[in-house]
Amino acid sequence: MRYSLGSIIANAVSGQRLWPMAWRKAAPKPSYDAIIVGGGGHGLATAYYLAKEHGLTNIAVVEKGWLGGGNVGRNTTIIRSNYMLPDNTRFYEWSLKLWENLSRELNFNAMVSQRGVINLAHTPAQLDAYARRGNAMRLAGVDAELLDRDEVARRVPGLDVSDQARFPILGGICQPRGGTVRHDAVAWGYARAADRLGVDIIENCEVTGFVYDGERVAGVDTTRGRIEAPKVGVAVAGSTSQVMRLAGFERLPIESHVLQAFVSEGLKPFLDTVVTFGAGHLYISQSDKGGLVFGGDIDGYNSYAQRGNLPIVEDVASSAVAMFPSLARIRLLRSWGGIMDMSMDGSPIIDRTPKPGLYLNAGWCYGGFKATPGSGWCFAHTIARDEPHPLNAAFSLDRFRTGALLDERGAGATPRLH
Ligand SMILES: Cc1cc2nc3c(=O)[nH]c(=O)nc-3n(C[C@H](O)[C@H](O)[C@H](O)COP(=O)(O)OP(=O)(O)OC[C@H]3O[C@@H](n4cnc5c(N)ncnc54)[C@H](O)[C@@H]3O)c2cc1C
Repeated sequence: MRYSLGSIIANAVSGQRLWPMAWRKAAPKPSYDAIIVGGGGHGLATAYYLAKEHGLTNIAVVEKGWLGGGNVGRNTTIIRSNYMLPDNTRFYEWSLKLWENLSRELNFNAMVSQRGVINLAHTPAQLDAYARRGNAMRLAGVDAELLDRDEVARRVPGLDVSDQARFPILGGICQPRGGTVRHDAVAWGYARAADRLGVDIIENCEVTGFVYDGERVAGVDTTRGRIEAPKVGVAVAGSTSQVMRLAGFERLPIESHVLQAFVSEGLKPFLDTVVTFGAGHLYISQSDKGGLVFGGDIDGYNSYAQRGNLPIVEDVASSAVAMFPSLARIRLLRSWGGIMDMSMDGSPIIDRTPKPGLYLNAGWCYGGFKATPGSGWCFAHTIARDEPHPLNAAFSLDRFRTGALLDERGAGATPRLH
């Protein structure tokens, strides 16, 4: 059923009994043309674009839990393309363009809200760096505005912009087309659209091993039996090192760390943009329900547990209060954690692997949600054509051997520094 005013009216007058399931509960077939491991945003988007752009519809998405249970349903929902290095700018801008039409394309309201993303500057050097980044963005056709302190104060009324602030604000950079998207709707929207194109979405089906015919991949073993396919794409985010070990890759340039997110009690609307704190690490926005949604740094140690620790709570709460002193008395309602696949240069991997037929999508660090449409689009191209698209050619696995790193966010071989 197409979601429309007509379908809402038809269901309103029939006791809401006409809504079909958004996607079928598919059982695994013995073989497919391609298997995508991981039913997060990236895996589902990949399956959708494989079917839509490349005509490959005999595909399975194999998910060990339920759709939306991974990072796609755990993130702080921020989208943007405010990068400086050309390879990053091109890729994330393409992703942002796909977001702009996504609800219409999927016939599913993903609540894409281009409310702007403002990064605050607290030192003259930081403001200079923002000017340089903004110029690079504009030269690449991406929107960017440099803001002085008065303009920041006008756009974000609750901020402490006084000289007495703990970290005085000198200005900031804004990407007006950045914003937020309802994260789990992205998983549901891609799943429903892929299902309509014939893709089998198989939940509660964990990949436990890989099948090879010589060096070439020939399928996967799962908790629901063996499934054969000449092409297998892995998009399992925080579980990348575990799953790729099953495929015979003992070491990858990836570490897994927990990243936490927090939601406050509901407040009246006062923050209509996304703000990031430049003197520490905090990003904050207000959801349509009124809760403040915010996050900060990853936990310092490696972990596969989807829960966080108290020092980070203290760290992000103190940053939030340094920015907005009036938040000191609000209550934190909920917090949760997700496992980040931190790459060693802060940039992702969308590539073939040394095993023919096996493809890898990983290394998204804090920022993979905004990449979801672009990542799925590029990964689908890479799998269908067996070669990267120019948009993801720089996101190669090989760069960690050759040294052609994309270290825009990185400052060395440690994820603590991205
Ligand atoms: C707290 C937090 C805040 C974040 N904030 C932002 C943000 O504001 N903006 C942004 O751009 N990014 C953000 N991110 C990062 C972003 O969420 C991730 O980079 C992105 O969602 C990862 O891709 P995914 O959606 O495919 O991952 P996931 O949803 O994690 O999908 C991977 C799937 O693989 C499945 N899987 C694992 N092992 C197996 C197996 N053996 N067999 C079958 N399936 C398996 C998992 O169950 C999971 O469903 C944040 C992340 C977190 C945790």
